[in-house]
Amino acid sequence: MQTDDCSPLLQPSQPDLVIRVGKVTIGEKCRKKLPKIRKEKEKEKVVQAACALLNSGGGVIRMEIANETDCPLDLGLDLQEALTELILPSDIFDDFFDTEKQGRMFHIFVKSWRRGALPEDNSDKPPICSMCSSLYRRSGTSTICLNSRQAYNFLKIKKNNAQKARINEESGHQDILESNPAFQVFQSKKLEYGHILPFPESHSVEFKHFSTPKINQYVKKAIQKYTPAFANNKGGYLFIGVEDEDRKVLGCPKENVDRDSLQRVIAQAVSKLPVFHFCSTDARVSFEVKFIDVYKEEALYGYVVAVKIEPFCCVAFSEDPVSWKVNEQQEIVRMNMTEWIAKMMGTDPDFAEGFASQLSLSDSLPHCRKGMKHTAHLQQLLFPVSPGRWQYIPESLWVELSSQHKGLEELIHQQVRPASWGILIFSRSWAVDLGLEEKQGVLCDALLIAHNSRPTLYTILGDQDAEGQDYCNHIALTLKQKLVTMGGYTGKLCVMTKVLCLSPDISAMSLELYSSPIVYPLPYNLSGTQKIESLLQALVIVLLGFRSSLNHQHERILSLLEVPPSQQCVCLIPTWLRKDKPGHKDQGKIRTSVSPLKLNLVNVAEKVWHKRRIST
Ligand SMILES: [Zn+2]
Repeated sequence: MQTDDCSPLLQPSQPDLVIRVGKVTIGEKCRKKLPKIRKEKEKEKVVQAACALLNSGGGVIRMEIANETDCPLDLGLDLQEALTELILPSDIFDDFFDTEKQGRMFHIFVKSWRRGALPEDNSDKPPICSMCSSLYRRSGTSTICLNSRQAYNFLKIKKNNAQKARINEESGHQDILESNPAFQVFQSKKLEYGHILPFPESHSVEFKHFSTPKINQYVKKAIQKYTPAFANNKGGYLFIGVEDEDRKVLGCPKENVDRDSLQRVIAQAVSKLPVFHFCSTDARVSFEVKFIDVYKEEALYGYVVAVKIEPFCCVAFSEDPVSWKVNEQQEIVRMNMTEWIAKMMGTDPDFAEGFASQLSLSDSLPHCRKGMKHTAHLQQLLFPVSPGRWQYIPESLWVELSSQHKGLEELIHQQVRPASWGILIFSRSWAVDLGLEEKQGVLCDALLIAHNSRPTLYTILGDQDAEGQDYCNHIALTLKQKLVTMGGYTGKLCVMTKVLCLSPDISAMSLELYSSPIVYPLPYNLSGTQKIESLLQALVIVLLGFRSSLNHQHERILSLLEVPPSQQCVCLIPTWLRKDKPGHKDQGKIRTSVSPLKLNLVNVAEKVWHKRRIST
């Protein structure tokens, strides 16, 4: 079914983003023997899938092993290097990738590229991964394509400059270009064949020579690369028809050059360069082309094509940057330049920092700087972790469920038994808690977060139902993605799924209808209190939808009431959950859509709130 060159494709109905890339040769020994084109093609699709997953909350790359081999396999050096390049400035492969062979399949488990909540973790780390920035800059006499981190820093500088001032040195730049010794040659009408130019290549001068008759094609490529490189710096000159090593004028033979069409090619190539402005202008890269006659033995031999490129106020690309993501329609798509910059600069709403940093940025609440502390406080209140003990939360719901459904207790005990301790969070519908559609026939859903295990979501059905699997997977995927993007969880994370059936006819008869087929490697286990607590903190943020609820009004009221900072967040829970759209007739009542799990959280919060009011 899979062909060798199939492009990466998302596998539907999985509890995680799973991208199939078809057949790939695995292992250094075998990859070394591959024909170059095939090797590059395979690498390209694996890196593209990895890039999309890093940018979309993480997931799994599924490869069918193309080569015949039984021994345990390494990935292959070229693949490993290409993947490591994606995660610069971090250069530790294992921080983001785990590999595992499962039968004829080879899996790469990809962790989300999300940055930590602490600003100091992020100073150098671009918010997204890219395969190529398409941003060229001059560095000495060479032209380099910026890596992701360099591009990130470059964009920050450009944005800063644009904010600081209008470009008041615009005329200054002109002077720099005109005081360049290359300017004299640029202005000249005629050069002798073999003449040695009196200036070398530099950060603002590049020599190129093409003896090919397909000159238009070559010039177009050179323009795409060098124009942005000079424009992003302080401007410069590109001389085509000069040998770079000895600065010798050779010219492009006149029979190869149609001046009108070449002029058009250059103008078109420049006009197609994607540009982005942090300033308020809509200027394009400005340039000037001259054809300087080259004479050989007093006859016209050809031309030097000289291009003067002005410095550009903001950012010029050679083409759209190459970066991928999984969109809402579950397709793997390439970002365009505008979206890429929005994500790189953190102005994209998806990437706005989470609750914790919103709190920490708030100046109106001086005690609230440490937003992280509040989340931790809330988590200890709502989902307390005590090593060595099992906790079923909300307790009241668990009591209710287990008395309503005979055999549920036994079934759940069977499931949690392999783990030593942890927390099981029940809801009549986790789907509703996450804003998804409820499903008939679901008795309850439970999220298992246990020591030394992978988080697992259980859906317990009253009767067999073929759609149970899709339902459970959909919740698990949504939950995982929200924990990462909204909750800001930065560890390796998966949510496994299991659909169980509690038959009412036969007591304690359980039926394991389905469980997720991909086995995640050990680093995906939650080991120890710290990991478990930070995941639960992310869960608090996700469940309470804090990002939308927190506003200045809340903060002000709480400050006026002189509520100590440690309890301010607790007070926000009932405020938010009771709040409905203004003017709504039920305004002030608890939202009807609020699930039992959330209601329970409200109760806990309100108890604490009342206790406090009584005690003061
Ligand atoms: Zn600009």
